[in-house]
Amino acid sequence: MPELPEVETVVRTLRSLVLGKTIERVSVHLPRIVRRPDDVEAFKAQLAGQTIREIARRAKFIQFFMDQDVLISHLRMEGRYGLYQADEPVEKHTHVVFHFTDQTELRYRDVRQFGTMDLFPKGQETVSGPLAKLGVEPLSEGFTPDVLRKLLAGRTTKIKPLLLNQECMVGLGNIYVDESLFRAGIHPERPAGTLTGQEVDRLHASIVATLSEAVEQGGSSIKSYVNGQGEMGMFQQSLMVYGRKNEPCVRCGAEIVRFVVGGRGTHICPVCQKK
Ligand code: ZN
Repeated sequence: MPELPEVETVVRTLRSLVLGKTIERVSVHLPRIVRRPDDVEAFKAQLAGQTIREIARRAKFIQFFMDQDVLISHLRMEGRYGLYQADEPVEKHTHVVFHFTDQTELRYRDVRQFGTMDLFPKGQETVSGPLAKLGVEPLSEGFTPDVLRKLLAGRTTKIKPLLLNQECMVGLGNIYVDESLFRAGIHPERPAGTLTGQEVDRLHASIVATLSEAVEQGGSSIKSYVNGQGEMGMFQQSLMVYGRKNEPCVRCGAEIVRFVVGGRGTHICPVCQKK
């Protein structure tokens, strides 16, 4: 499943590809991708004639801001966007096509069919639906050490599940939580409220650095995306603990261990991250 950095890369790529384009019509080949409005015909009719004015990310949702509406898209497991010329052959598993007035098309492919699209009148998207009740955005200016301190203060929950809770902080998936905790030298089972001021500062810096680096590396494969190969900026970040069970710690050489925290596979260095 794409994590926040991959989605951020997709958003930046989409911005460079389709911003300012006007939708002539929309084809929907798999109606259940469209959750809102209920009626797919209404979805198609509403989008026709609108221009894409801005594209942004909230958590792992892609937001296409149009003239009147905002389209909220979630890729789930394998959703992909690609820009094509209208006369290029349509690949299998293409479920939604946005036909633009300039003879190009934004095509949404999704082999697993778990992706979703919700259309809201602008401004309504934060009132109800998937964007309501989301926590702080770790790559926003609003995410400061103080904000993190307040989120953790007094909490007896283990730090890892708390960081994974989307109502607390958004978009920080299993891989990036493990990497951030390793960088900060914090054991994933520490009760959140017991972190010292210094540890909170380190954790904040680690989260921001881990995600920012991943976003930067994700930007390197934009070309394949433009070519419509569906690679979509999937990056191979050099991970320090995640997936490295029994391999030596990059800092101290001790063996990385794997165990389960809150139902999630977790990787740590037992020396660098003492309980
Ligand atoms: Zn170590």
